Amino acid sequence: MRQLRQMASGLWHATDRSIPRNQQVGSVALVGAGPGCKDLITLRGAQRLQEADVIFFDRLIDPEVLDLAPANAKRIYVGKAPGCHHWPQEKISQALVAIAGQGQRVVRLKCGDPGVFARGAEEIDALDAADIPYEIIPGVTAASAASAALGGFLTERGTCDTLVLATGQTAKDAGNANWIAQLQPGTRMAIYMGVGAAANTAKALIEAGLEKQVSIDIVSRAQQSDQVTAKCRASTLLETIETSGISNPAIMFLTWPQSATKVNSPQRG
Ligand code: SAH
Repeated sequence: MRQLRQMASGLWHATDRSIPRNQQVGSVALVGAGPGCKDLITLRGAQRLQEADVIFFDRLIDPEVLDLAPANAKRIYVGKAPGCHHWPQEKISQALVAIAGQGQRVVRLKCGDPGVFARGAEEIDALDAADIPYEIIPGVTAASAASAALGGFLTERGTCDTLVLATGQTAKDAGNANWIAQLQPGTRMAIYMGVGAAANTAKALIEAGLEKQVSIDIVSRAQQSDQVTAKCRASTLLETIETSGISNPAIMFLTWPQSATKVNSPQRG
């Protein structure tokens, strides 16, 4: 069903690239806003904002991105802030359906890319169930933004041919202790929401004997004016976070280059 709906949406866009208006059922564009700076949203995303009647937006969005929308467009904050009240996911999905169902052009603005750790699946399931047309407009995900901020690339031929996107939850979840097995020679793992799980991450790396093989790069607030970067190994991870001004939002890269297999390769189960 999801596949069919997206195909239909693609067909619609082949002939008309703007959101239809003046029809009974509106539409929803799930737009990636990029990593929190206004000039890293796509032109298509900006266009949808310019056409929007209602915008539901998350935390970590540059407020200036919202300025792209008409002054009379309704802006509704639905993001989570640590320790604060926020809209439950189900309420957000219901609101998208209700407002688009009234014929409004809705933009669901998410930080980074709407397909990366953004709970987009729940929202499009609800839209599918209500037969509301939607489209997904990709954005610059935090890993891309952070990698560029470090002056490097997410993959490097012959050195890092495998890229894994993971969340800090992976390291926190006791039932998923084997997450570290996904790190292999030639792999880079980009950990989202990883600062709170740093102690577990460091412990797991040290216990797996990967102190020498795996280098760690952290980028906090990538592509923003107060961006901070740091480099360390597992044994100095916590100290580095404490002393370098790293805080959320941050991306942590664990890199095990292909060449590091030759040196001191650990025995792993
Ligand atoms: N959909 C988003 C991810 C949402 S999860 C994306 O594609 O980027 C939120 C996490 O994204 C944060 O905890 C942090 O790990 C990361 N993040 C978002 N913006 C960031 C930024 N500017 N710099 C570093 N990390 C960022």
